[in-house]
Amino acid sequence: MSDTIKIAYLYEDLMNTYGDSGDVKILSFLLKEQGYDTQVDNVSLDDEFNAFDYDFLFFGGGQDFEQTVVAKDLIRHRETIKDYIEAGKPMLCICGGYQFLGKYYQTVGGETIKCLNILPFHTVFKADSRMIGDTEYETEWGTVRAFENHSGRTYFDDKNKLKPLGKMIEGYGNNPEDKAEGMRYKNTIGSYSHGPILKNENIARAIAQEIIKSHQEKMSKSK
Ligand code: GLN
Repeated sequence: MSDTIKIAYLYEDLMNTYGDSGDVKILSFLLKEQGYDTQVDNVSLDDEFNAFDYDFLFFGGGQDFEQTVVAKDLIRHRETIKDYIEAGKPMLCICGGYQFLGKYYQTVGGETIKCLNILPFHTVFKADSRMIGDTEYETEWGTVRAFENHSGRTYFDDKNKLKPLGKMIEGYGNNPEDKAEGMRYKNTIGSYSHGPILKNENIARAIAQEIIKSHQEKMSKSK
């Protein structure tokens, strides 16, 4: 088995808003610094996919139209993504990609998109305003500054199981009420932060370390 770190970018061609692909570029840069080459596969419509072939899964943000297209194809991969998340392997999901891990997402057009229903949260639309602007919040790794642009409001259905990624200082995050940004479950992070989020070196380095750990575990099992 090769020592190259394998990253799956889910629907890279459809889910990549406001610089999200920069997250994967930053991780590749940090992993290179630590002596690892990376291979990034765009896993898109009709592709075969086994999450356990990878050391890291990335899912970027998307417009409502792209989300409706992706949702129909994505459902085929529910079991492998669920098992991967439950195994504690690392994954980062941004905005539309984050919404997909929950139960459903209501679009601006009033359509309800059935999501993967892997984690207990849901995302609804309310007509008054889109959440757009700079964000700042406090995480386990320190302050993170980013940019958000979403209509979906995310609410946790099980606050014991899911933890927010951060506590808002500026901006909306998950919704206008909770003062919380994003979600953490095991080694999976969901976030509304674009910009890309991993321009924040503190969180980027923490994720890079988790990827190396996940890679080393896979390599030791294959020996
Ligand atoms: N379309 C979704 C929303 O508006 C996600 C947006 C995004 O990924 N930037 O909430």
